[in-house]
Amino acid sequence: MAEKEKQISLNEIQEKTKKYLIGTYNKYAVAFSYGSGEMLYDTDGKEYIDFMCGISVTNLGHGEADIVEALRDQADRIIHSSNLFYSEEAANLAETLIVNSFPGKVFFCNSGTEANEAAFKLSRKYAIQKKIQNPLIVSLRGSFHGRTAGSMSMTGQEKIREGFGDLLDGFLYIEPNNEDVLIETFNKYKDRICAFIFEPIIGEGGILPLQKSYIQLARKLTKEAGCILILDEIQTGMGRTGKLFCYENFDIIPDAITLAKALGSGFPIGALIVGEKYDSVLGVGSHGSTFGGNHLAMRIAYETLKVILSREVLTNVKVISEFVFSRLLEMKSKYSIIKEVRGIGLHIGVDLTIPSRKIAEECLRNGLVVNSTAETVIRIMPPLNISYEKTEKGLKIFEEVILKFI
Ligand code: PLP
Repeated sequence: MAEKEKQISLNEIQEKTKKYLIGTYNKYAVAFSYGSGEMLYDTDGKEYIDFMCGISVTNLGHGEADIVEALRDQADRIIHSSNLFYSEEAANLAETLIVNSFPGKVFFCNSGTEANEAAFKLSRKYAIQKKIQNPLIVSLRGSFHGRTAGSMSMTGQEKIREGFGDLLDGFLYIEPNNEDVLIETFNKYKDRICAFIFEPIIGEGGILPLQKSYIQLARKLTKEAGCILILDEIQTGMGRTGKLFCYENFDIIPDAITLAKALGSGFPIGALIVGEKYDSVLGVGSHGSTFGGNHLAMRIAYETLKVILSREVLTNVKVISEFVFSRLLEMKSKYSIIKEVRGIGLHIGVDLTIPSRKIAEECLRNGLVVNSTAETVIRIMPPLNISYEKTEKGLKIFEEVILKFI
């Protein structure tokens, strides 16, 4: 661990934060200063098991040697040159993404909301090219797609959109996992729908997996209507569910997917992958990003993919997932405050009968990092390469915390 010149106390950090940062976040009272593998250490040196991965970002744990080495090497060579020039790193990453998903092309940006913003522009451009009158983008109630205007407009949660006046129009929010509603929507609006976007597991909305039959029906209806099926894989992608991309669990190929979070192992990056049918909709001058596709982000993401694909990472997800589900279901059978355990792979939600924030805070006090979402859900997202021993230890802490609340 590199020694810093002066370690400031949590109190000082909190005071400075309150004074100088715009208060858009409800923070937990911890400041991390070091991470190693599945472990995090705060400014007092206290140790934590990381079951959160910075909200599904550091999927390979902290300080993964090959990724740190790639970052150092690339920073030494070149960090940025601009999209006005060709880049070996961008070309290599795009090729690897396409070879491991479906034939098509990639647009690079810097975050999840930008990836979805690109998907939004793709959908609108396509609608105009196809001469669709009053085009509609369909998304799901409870979904989360980001905080910029287009992504926020696609997000099916009032609380995310409220307070900003009129947003973009042309969006329709429908109930997830309801096949009748899906059929009705397409029957009624098939001439106007230009795209259907959803998270295969609704994440911020409470870890709600969509049913396989629902996703397959969505694929069928979008194909028949000639509109773009976009899967937001920002949280579910990059091995989180035991497959490189979550859509692979459902035997479908979408027309486009959006990625961010774990793609850069913590380095900011976003990507829109568009299948062949729609990959020339966005042409020269129609979209862009100064930082998107910079050499450093591309190299780190390439290395991240290489590690996931060349080691036993996805197998580990399956093995550890079985263990986590069996332990959590055992807890559910014993403790009535656990209503439901859901998810796929290591993308797991524990729905409680009480507010989950209190549980997450108590877990932190006991050395386990988990995240509270959708008021009552604890999100469990350990690194994909976590050891059995650390998983067991983390679950033991979780059970001890649950016991304090019954
Ligand atoms: N889409 C999904 C499914 C997400 O979970 C998130 C972030 O939590 C986003 C989009 C937005 O990503 P970002 O915060 O990188 O803009």
